[in-house]
Amino acid sequence: MNTTSIPIPPLEPQRGSSLVGKAYWVMLQRVTLIAAAIDVGYILLFMGLGSRPLAIVNFLSIAMYLGAYRLIQKRYNAAALVLIWVEVLGHAALGSLLIGWDSGFHYYLLLFIPAIVVANTRGYAAPMVLALLAYYLGLQALCSHWGPLDPLPVRSVQVVNWMHICLVFAMSAALAAVYRRTILIAGSRLRKQATQDPLTSLANRSHFEALAAHALARSQRDGAPVTLLLCDADLFKRINDQYGHAVGDAVLVAIANVLAANLRDGDVLARWGGEEFLALMPYCPLEAACATAERIRAAIAQAPLDVAQAPIALTMSFGVTQVRSTEDLHTAIARADKALYQSKNAGRNQVSVA
Ligand code: GH3
Ligand code: MG
Ligand code: MG
Repeated sequence: MNTTSIPIPPLEPQRGSSLVGKAYWVMLQRVTLIAAAIDVGYILLFMGLGSRPLAIVNFLSIAMYLGAYRLIQKRYNAAALVLIWVEVLGHAALGSLLIGWDSGFHYYLLLFIPAIVVANTRGYAAPMVLALLAYYLGLQALCSHWGPLDPLPVRSVQVVNWMHICLVFAMSAALAAVYRRTILIAGSRLRKQATQDPLTSLANRSHFEALAAHALARSQRDGAPVTLLLCDADLFKRINDQYGHAVGDAVLVAIANVLAANLRDGDVLARWGGEEFLALMPYCPLEAACATAERIRAAIAQAPLDVAQAPIALTMSFGVTQVRSTEDLHTAIARADKALYQSKNAGRNQVSVA
């Protein structure tokens, strides 16, 4: 197959692409419960301030939030979203019209702006934000035209306004924290995908090269010896053929664990290829690296790997070489590869030095 003909997807976010995933709906479901609880507080406040109509509006709001909660539970996510929109738009309008624009019910509308832009449903973020702006300005015009339909004393309106300001500050901060968390999780997931081998969780080839270049430069600056250890499972194809590919995978994970357990913290270990592993050992003379390779070889050859309740006998071949101060990493890797093939040609299950 000609791999160059595979189209590479663009890296930029596509028009209409959405960050909304399962976690978003879980978060939104929690928000509906928090909003319903806040509305219970508002019912008490408006009863205390003597605004029966607003207390009734809050009763309706609680019903709508609980309805949205049930809808998300039943996976009618779009319907829940519409219900939440209707609640916030309606609540802001009724509150502003009943006790006046100065009560600050309209601040809640501003919370929709980041939500619209982040969700960017079908790429309609800009027109939706503009529609929200039109609604906001229209509502303000209506309020100044009609005045409060159920006026409260100025002091009471001020108290309501302060409460709204505090709540919108808290909600904006919480919203930003949720978005930040989402971005951090996505970043760390991408970093992992770009640097790790998904099966063994060891470094992949490109990450090894970056880590090894750094470790090599430091050791060479200090004039310390650096060695490379390349190893390959012997007759691994037979294990796949005999036990199946899934057991083969488990054996590779077991090998990775043995290697990691026998190397030092500063060593860089990678899955170099299918059943081939590469370690760079900084501050390690050739004899010490050979001893480590021999120890790993013996550990794998002597104790069968306990995989899927079936102990599997396996051996590995090794090639060890010291990195010279004047050469680059790939020249040294090529030499380790030669040493490894020497081990294979000499009957496998052994360590060769180049
Ligand atoms: P040799 O001793 O000469 O290295 O023999 P070998 O059978 O190990 O070498 P060969 O290169 O012929 O076969 C390597 C096998 O490793 C074939 C391939 O299917 C298997 N392999 C490579 N990557 C994976 C993997 O991720 N999972 C599994 N289960 N098998 C893999
Ligand atoms: Mg092999
Ligand atoms: Mg191989």
